[in-house]
Amino acid sequence: MAFILDGKRISMEIKDELKEKAALLKERGIEGALAVIQVGADPASTVYVRNKKNACAYIGIESQAYELPEQTSQEELLALIERLNQEPRVRGILVQLPLPKHIDEEAVLLAISPEKDVDGFHPQSVGAMVIGKDGFLPCTPAGVIQLLKRSGIAIAGKHCVVIGRSNIVGKPMSLLMLRENATVTIAHSKTADLKALCKTADILIVAIGRPQFVTAEYVKEGAVVVDVGIHRNPDNKLCGDVKFDEVEPLASAITPVPGGVGPMTIAMLMHNCVESIEKLEG
Ligand code: NAD
Repeated sequence: MAFILDGKRISMEIKDELKEKAALLKERGIEGALAVIQVGADPASTVYVRNKKNACAYIGIESQAYELPEQTSQEELLALIERLNQEPRVRGILVQLPLPKHIDEEAVLLAISPEKDVDGFHPQSVGAMVIGKDGFLPCTPAGVIQLLKRSGIAIAGKHCVVIGRSNIVGKPMSLLMLRENATVTIAHSKTADLKALCKTADILIVAIGRPQFVTAEYVKEGAVVVDVGIHRNPDNKLCGDVKFDEVEPLASAITPVPGGVGPMTIAMLMHNCVESIEKLEG
């Protein structure tokens, strides 16, 4: 039976550490807020935004909600971001994606000051990550690293295959595993013989965005399997990109969905917010 990489427990551990840190900062008069902007009322986004607000409340940092109508223009959104960039109390700005089609996502992400880019999506944050300089790390990949490390999984020298090359998961995930001294292979939609490649992985990280795509045929015995995917199956239950029941008996460790990578993402967002507030001290 595989060891379960318990994101629920580890994310709580991180949030409790952050809660303590935020309280100590507050005692010294150092406080700040996270501004969360949602455009439109996409139900999944509403759930994510609510979870982020709840996490802020748990840790004891202020969250400011900006719920804008679907027809908000790009200019209006950029003007709000500019105002929040100038607002000293706001230490983090998060724009919930996806945005409505008439808004250029790239222009919006570029408008957020890198100092407040707690999602880690600004090109300056991405560049800093690539060359190992200080900057906010994207929350989902950083959460996977914490989940592995805090579960005692050795990364250095291991062959890691990451399935997926998106800007928010696959690419940064590969870079962070490289930073941890793994030997990394990135697989994507044009990769030849994906099954054979995945079978060579000591650590297989799946961010393919297809429900239960990875079956036992993709997994080497004893591999560590991290499932980043989140989907609702036809019974409205959450499932990942990995067929858990088939893969779990083969793996040495595996993330469940839900309760694996998902809660880690929010914990790392909170980590970035507290780090940003802490910088006020310096
Ligand atoms: P995406 O659709 O942007 O990227 C999917 C990637 O998979 C692409 O790079 C593509 O090249 C690759 N791919 C697609 N089909 C393939 C195939 N047949 N063979 C090999 N590679 C293939 O998705 P994303 O935004 O990177 O998200 C991936 C998954 O992670 C989704 O299920 C998403 O919901 C989930 N996600 C979870 C969290 C979290 O907090 N747990 C955060 C972000 C995304």
